[in-house]
Amino acid sequence: MNFEDLNLNTPLYNALDDLGFTTPTPIQEQAFNVVNSGKDMVGIAQTGTGKTFAYMLPIIKNLKYSTQEEPRVLVLVPTRELVVQVVDEIEKLSKYINNRVLGVYGGTNINTQKQAVAQGIDILVATPGRLYDLALSRVLQLKSIQKLVIDEVDVMLDLGFRHQLINIFDILPSRRQNIMFSATMTQDVDALISDFFKSPQRVSIAISGTPLDNISQTRYNVPNFYTKVNLLEHLLYDTETFNRVLIFVAYKRMADRLFEKLDETFHDELCVIHSNKTQNYRLRSIEQFRNGDNRILIATDVMARGLDIDNVSHVINFDTPLYAENYMHRIGRTGRAEREGKSMVFSTKAEQESIEGIETLMNMEIPLLEIPMAVKISTELIEEERPKIKERNNPIKRKDEDAPGPAFHEKSKKNSKENLGGSYKFKIAAKYKKPKTRGDKNYNKRNKRK
Ligand code: AMP
Repeated sequence: MNFEDLNLNTPLYNALDDLGFTTPTPIQEQAFNVVNSGKDMVGIAQTGTGKTFAYMLPIIKNLKYSTQEEPRVLVLVPTRELVVQVVDEIEKLSKYINNRVLGVYGGTNINTQKQAVAQGIDILVATPGRLYDLALSRVLQLKSIQKLVIDEVDVMLDLGFRHQLINIFDILPSRRQNIMFSATMTQDVDALISDFFKSPQRVSIAISGTPLDNISQTRYNVPNFYTKVNLLEHLLYDTETFNRVLIFVAYKRMADRLFEKLDETFHDELCVIHSNKTQNYRLRSIEQFRNGDNRILIATDVMARGLDIDNVSHVINFDTPLYAENYMHRIGRTGRAEREGKSMVFSTKAEQESIEGIETLMNMEIPLLEIPMAVKISTELIEEERPKIKERNNPIKRKDEDAPGPAFHEKSKKNSKENLGGSYKFKIAAKYKKPKTRGDKNYNKRNKRK
């Protein structure tokens, strides 16, 4: 199949020609007719499969020229980076069309965005929080939205946007087309679909857990952090092979720590992104990596999801992701648009279980490589790797031998009297033959019966 079969229009064909794209990717092929028909759709596709064009080609094809100010197409994405990227993709497609496209996201001046909104828009790309704020301010009118696209639904729900999405659904016209994309099918995604969408048509090119064929995967067993650093440095010295390397770590502190270590050797070639870095810092880092100024980018999972960078030669999983899906997301950053890509994963003993989880999900074994001889095996451990030292005199946690036992002295006679409970009262009463109190109904009852 080629783009001619999709019956597009001349401006779109010209834009695709300029981009040098000749054939639709599988998700573009499959999603086109569904989106074109106006039905609700759920697309299961990883980033890098061409999913942005999969929904944008039919949407732009059907979007008539208009001078109205209110947007007619709304694209919701989880991160600021993705806003920038999707706007960029739409602009590439709209090169020969008069489309007004705007991207809005939090963390930047809302007043500037209000002014931009007031200029009139056709397609609005937004993160949920900022979109809702703009809608509440009444500068942004959503009553003309005909098509809602939610991209990376799984990430969205992961980041806790469910409530914000529901609030947005409430203020959108009920007659609209819903188009969703998710890289993985999770219970949360399923629940959202069944709660809010009318029997959407499912389109999927890769079931969750199916890695792209064009990504070759390998793994190393590495004893600890510092040995991982040594191995990584050893690999990175080969600048020809490792020419654009995306390194994943699970959390911010680890990203900073690894950055500090690698900075000693690869100072001019290195950048880092995680959610504690400012928006500007992150955008600059991504740009430097994208345009080749920096060869190495260190990123956390959430920050790197949705990153669209071509020609990533290697994805290196510096740690083994706990969730197998994250591994799928990570390696999907290489081998984009059907190019060849390579991924590597470093695992310590403690991470072997996660490797098993990943291999089970993919239903394949990741080939294991030997650590090259030249790599120094370190015995030094970082804080997280050291065995946890138990506090000796922890007043809260007593060892069993310290547990309080029975008292060491005999009880005095007075205190060792047997507790006779309620019956004691009656024994005394019987002994003295008269009620202890005037109101002792039981005594009276018993005496009556006699
Ligand atoms: P996406 O999955 O939407 O993030 O797209 C991944 C990359 O593939 C982007 O850089 C697109 O510009 C590119 N791309 C999209 N469609 C095609 C196509 N039909 N042929 C080649 N590259 C494409």
